[in-house]
This record gives sequence, structure tokens and C-alpha cells, in this order.
Amino acid sequence: MTRILVTNDDGVFSEGIKLLAEALEPLGEVTVVAPDREQSASGHSLTLHRPLRIRQLEERTYSVDGTPTDCVNLAIAWLLKDNPPDLVVSGINFGCNLGEDVTYSGTVSATFEATLLGVPSVALSQEVSEHFSFEPAARVAHTVVQKLLEAKLPPDLLLNINIPSAPISGVSLTKLGRRTYSQSVVEKRDPRGRRYFWLAGTPEWTAEDGTDIHAIGEGRVSITPLHLDLTDYRGLESYDWLTDKLRGLADTT
Ligand code: MN
Repeated sequence: MTRILVTNDDGVFSEGIKLLAEALEPLGEVTVVAPDREQSASGHSLTLHRPLRIRQLEERTYSVDGTPTDCVNLAIAWLLKDNPPDLVVSGINFGCNLGEDVTYSGTVSATFEATLLGVPSVALSQEVSEHFSFEPAARVAHTVVQKLLEAKLPPDLLLNINIPSAPISGVSLTKLGRRTYSQSVVEKRDPRGRRYFWLAGTPEWTAEDGTDIHAIGEGRVSITPLHLDLTDYRGLESYDWLTDKLRGLADTT
């Protein structure tokens, strides 16, 4: 039997995860293990300095008082230990995860964790606009997962999928774009006169051809294959000068 683990970073009660679980139900046994509250922008963080608790909400729905990474760990290493999932699907996130956003995203980090634990995974994020709906993204999730399950998936498969809020005009395989944030710290005073800060940057886009950002701008579903090898392979050659300069290091330490 096909088993699918569903998680997210918006919390177990969010609309996106409910529709995702429903959309995948016909494709296999779906288990939902998700944070008990919003954990957006939690990145790939792991809770190591306090205990974690799992709460069973329905037959195969559980909440965890931790991060998406905690959820994937508890699900794969404990809850589903005897029946590991064939695929982890994270989402559907409220808002895109494009470009460098993937490094902050709890949605995408859940799939990083799945990959580290040897389970193929897919992250799904929905562009938000005034009159958006999760329904098209749920249909995309169903179709993509159905097609993936027909193939033999490599354990390190990790797809970051973003769905536009405009009517879907096609599907593109993309690379990560660049998204920078300007003016990111706001300084204020609290009622006792003490300073506090708010991280409140506005995104600036670089919608180069072939990027995820460009595809979403064109109303296309963007699929970016990711991997966890962060090595800068060009750097392995271009930083030769540094090792040359440090040649004496072995003698001096
Ligand atoms: Mn989120």
C-alpha cells in the first residue's frame, strides 16, 4: 500500500493542509503530522532543548508542539517507524516559496528533512492574491503526486512547487530566482519607552527567464528540483588563491 505523510508550517488546522490531505486521500494512506500552530519562517529548525508532545486529533491526524522538521522526524522515526511513507508532501502553504525564501521556509524545510531521512518529498505553496483559492493547488497536488507515484522515485527527490493565483497557463521546470528584501528593520518604542524592532522588509523581485519567480508571474505552475548539497562547485576552483595564501597554516598551528 502507498503511504503518504502530509505536513506543513501553517499548522494542522490550516485550510491548505486540510485540502491537501483530502486531495491525496484517493492515492494512498494519508497520515497528517503537523505543527499545532503556525510555524512559518521557522526554517530547518529542530527542537532539542525541551520535550515534544504528539496529540492525536483524528484516526490518522496528529499535531506536534514543534517545528515542521520536528514533525517529519517524529513521524518517520517513531509514529510510522514500522510503515515508512513512500512520499512526504508539505503544504499547501499560504503564500509562495520562491527564490531564497526556500531557506526560511518551514514548508520547504520539512521536505529537506524528509530527504535527509531518505524519503522523496514535494513542497507545495500557493500564491496569495485578493481572490485566491487553494482548490486549483489541491488539484495540482493530486495530479503531480499521482504521476510521481507511477514512477520509481529516487530517495533524494525534492520538488519545490509553487502554484499561481491566476488561472493556470502551464507548467515549467525552473531554477530558483532572486528575491531580495529592502528596508528590513523597523525600530519603535514600547509603552515603557524601551526600543523594540520589527523585521518588516518588502520583497523586491528579479524575474529572470527560467526562474520560479518568472513562471509564477506568467501564471504557470513552477516546479524547482532542489538538492541539499550546498557546495559551491565553482568556488572549489575560484578560491584556490585562498588555500595558496593559507599554505603556511599547517606549520603555525
Ligand atoms: Mn507558512
